[in-house]
Amino acid sequence: MWSMFTMKCPRCRRGRMFTNNNPYKKFGLRHVFDMPENCFVCHQRYEMETGFWYGTGYVSYALAVAISVATFIAWWVLIGISVDDNRIFAWLGFNAAILVLAQPWLMRFSRVLYLYFFVRYDPDYQVHEPQKFDA
Ligand SMILES: [Zn+2]
Repeated sequence: MWSMFTMKCPRCRRGRMFTNNNPYKKFGLRHVFDMPENCFVCHQRYEMETGFWYGTGYVSYALAVAISVATFIAWWVLIGISVDDNRIFAWLGFNAAILVLAQPWLMRFSRVLYLYFFVRYDPDYQVHEPQKFDA
């Protein structure tokens, strides 16, 4: 879990998956997906086949829904929701702001989750060959 949240390579859990650690470091989203082709430590290939990252769209969608459900429940408990006023619209705005602010992190984290789904941890990564996409 920790290597997932720190965005480390799923195979060796040591190499960083992204070129710069902070997705908010450079203004704009031009560099948010900057990642080396292979892991610096175990040489695991990250983009396992052409178009591999297209599947991350489903992952980030699921994450966005999970965040929305979480903020909705928190809003319901802390502020309340009623048909007599506009508190639900305040939540909509709040949730949209959260999702927009989280987007650079979400985009990266969905790639991390997606790759962890396909590449298993290998404690003997130094002796074994990197995993290929054939399963
Ligand atoms: Zn690695």
